[in-house]
Amino acid sequence: MITHRLFLSPPHMSGKEQAYIAEAFESNYIAPLGPMVERFEESIRKFTLAPNALALSSATAALHLALRVLGVGAGDVVLTSSFTFIGSVAPILYQNAIPVFIDSDTKSWNLSPLLLEKAIQTAPKKPKALILTHLYGQCADLEAIIALCNAHGIALIEDAAESLGGVYEGRQSGTFGTFGVYSFNGNKILTTSGGGMLVSANKELIEKARFYSTQARDDAPHYEHTDFGYNYRLSNILAAIGIAQMEVLPERILARRQIFEWYREALSDIGEITFMPELPNATGNRWLTTVTFERSDPTSIRLALEKENIESRPLWKPMHLQPLFQEALRVADGTAQSLFERGLCLPSGTQMSQEEVIRVSEIVKKGCQ
Ligand SMILES: *Cc1c(COP(=O)(O)O)cnc(C)c1O
Repeated sequence: MITHRLFLSPPHMSGKEQAYIAEAFESNYIAPLGPMVERFEESIRKFTLAPNALALSSATAALHLALRVLGVGAGDVVLTSSFTFIGSVAPILYQNAIPVFIDSDTKSWNLSPLLLEKAIQTAPKKPKALILTHLYGQCADLEAIIALCNAHGIALIEDAAESLGGVYEGRQSGTFGTFGVYSFNGNKILTTSGGGMLVSANKELIEKARFYSTQARDDAPHYEHTDFGYNYRLSNILAAIGIAQMEVLPERILARRQIFEWYREALSDIGEITFMPELPNATGNRWLTTVTFERSDPTSIRLALEKENIESRPLWKPMHLQPLFQEALRVADGTAQSLFERGLCLPSGTQMSQEEVIRVSEIVKKGCQ
């Protein structure tokens, strides 16, 4: 009898974490900052080829710093994906800026370039930045989106919180924008229990973000402040976990993609199921396997899975449908709403076996009319 709960995306340790944590303890760097933080940043630079990286307490903090450094402030317009997690967009509110939510297209489930163009034309003033999410580890239509940002002088911030290791035209997601952001929260493809990383090709901007992330301390023997910042740096202990996790990133991506293929095989005879697509010039990390149903009710399927102690989740509820953003500006055509209403995220943890994927799939199948 299998009785253990099958989670959506539980942490998967490599086995080396505790050795690196012990190393951090031996050096007594039980602090934010320290040699492990530098090594973790180095591992991200090496893997993504982003020239500069800054380890932070979360991806939400990283996005906040990106907006702050770009000079986004009260009353500024920030365009953003609507089909995303609140952590993507809350930093816009931290800066008292005005979010404009943009709907998805069906070929990527990510931000629609067509609607982005419309948003640029109809925004109350010239947008300063775009926060673009690569949802569930799958890349957005970057080429078209970057062309629009460049044409209109809009800074691109990639929310690659879910897409570490996903590539577009052979290049890592998160390295196309002025800034890119990765998350190491407990449910992501890698985890430090909590943590984030800000990357940029622009060294000066990263140094500015580093300054704000450690309380904006001026260069003086005492504490001198001409500006205010935040306490956003990552702890040296958590960075030790991150180093061990980065060592297994390539195999974790392969495992997530394998799980996706197992689901696709197991559910291939159910015509009403559509899997999240992948753009032809991109290879995502398939962080979560996500599907939509043409006819069947995803809620009853989710409850049937729950009965067997299997966790599944609805897709992200679009931001423009959240009570918080009732009054917010949006360019929406119903795409993300329809995905939300018909969709389900299936368990995708990298420790899953093919037998477990088949077991989940059988329950899903039974729930399909
Ligand atoms: C997880 C997530 C975030 C926030 O990451 P934290 O590290 O938890 O702050 C932001 N955006 C997206 C799309 C996410 O999935």
